[in-house]
Amino acid sequence: MEKLRIAIQKSGRLSEKSLELLKEAGISLNNGSRKLRSVAQYFPLEVIYLRDDDIPQYVEDGVAHIGIVGENEYAEKECAVDLVERLGYSRCRLSIAIPKSESYESPESLNGKRIATSYPVILGKYLGEHGIKADIHVLSGSVELAPSIGVAEAIFDIVSSGSTLISNGLKEVETVMKSEAVVIANRNLDEEVKGLLTDLLFRIRSVLAASNNKYILLNAPNDHLQEIIDVIPGMKSPTIMPLAEEGWSSVHSVLSEKAFWAVIGQLRELGAQGILVIPIEKMII
Ligand code: ATP
Ligand code: MG
Repeated sequence: MEKLRIAIQKSGRLSEKSLELLKEAGISLNNGSRKLRSVAQYFPLEVIYLRDDDIPQYVEDGVAHIGIVGENEYAEKECAVDLVERLGYSRCRLSIAIPKSESYESPESLNGKRIATSYPVILGKYLGEHGIKADIHVLSGSVELAPSIGVAEAIFDIVSSGSTLISNGLKEVETVMKSEAVVIANRNLDEEVKGLLTDLLFRIRSVLAASNNKYILLNAPNDHLQEIIDVIPGMKSPTIMPLAEEGWSSVHSVLSEKAFWAVIGQLRELGAQGILVIPIEKMII
């Protein structure tokens, strides 16, 4: 029987979360100390550990059937692969930054400048779309140092909190793209492997849906029960059960965490008590 071969970053910002996601999807890998490849238990899957830069090409070539990479690498490499799922972690943005003392009006301010980056394809497209003529200087690392050592007048790099920029005396002036971890897939998978991919994606989606949602329990006074039900944007409709204490009901529902924080004030005003928010392990959607 064939195995689904998945490429994951060997070590870096995507590795831990990607392995954790597989684990939550019920796929355990038998090696503690990481090798170059490992075989999963209870699911026909093999993991190949690679540098993130190499993953899109390996997936295009079919060495790996699928891979988990940052959307930035997927966009930069322009490989003939399909983006099949967004995973929501390793979120960052790719931005242009310049020394904080420099003035900046619009992308035109970049005309004639030298911009250091590890993402020449994405930057080149952006400059082309804005009709800007700038010189792209490719560096494989430590891009944020380029202006202070006189190698470039601007940089285009990954930003998450922005603290690296600040500590290098830079300011962010344009956000060119947002990125998160994504699953990419080879375009010519055979039927058996496609079936395995469908199964894996179903599991992954169940894990992602569960992590975005919470199980909410609360006690509601019956005289405000309908109003309380109305403010809870439940999955379908909430479960209502009478409490032993006369005049009160227990309300159970599933909410996104964000929606929960948006309505918590209203719930309390309506007299809801004993509010519990419980994590959901899997959510089959
Ligand atoms: P490799 O050795 O595999 O080439 P790398 O140094 O190129 O690793 P990492 O720094 O581990 O890559 O980042 C991997 C991916 O994680 C990036 O391509 C990006 O999508 C995302 N990422 C990078 N920096 C951050 C950050 N500060 N916060 C969140 N996500 C990030
Ligand atoms: Mg890399």
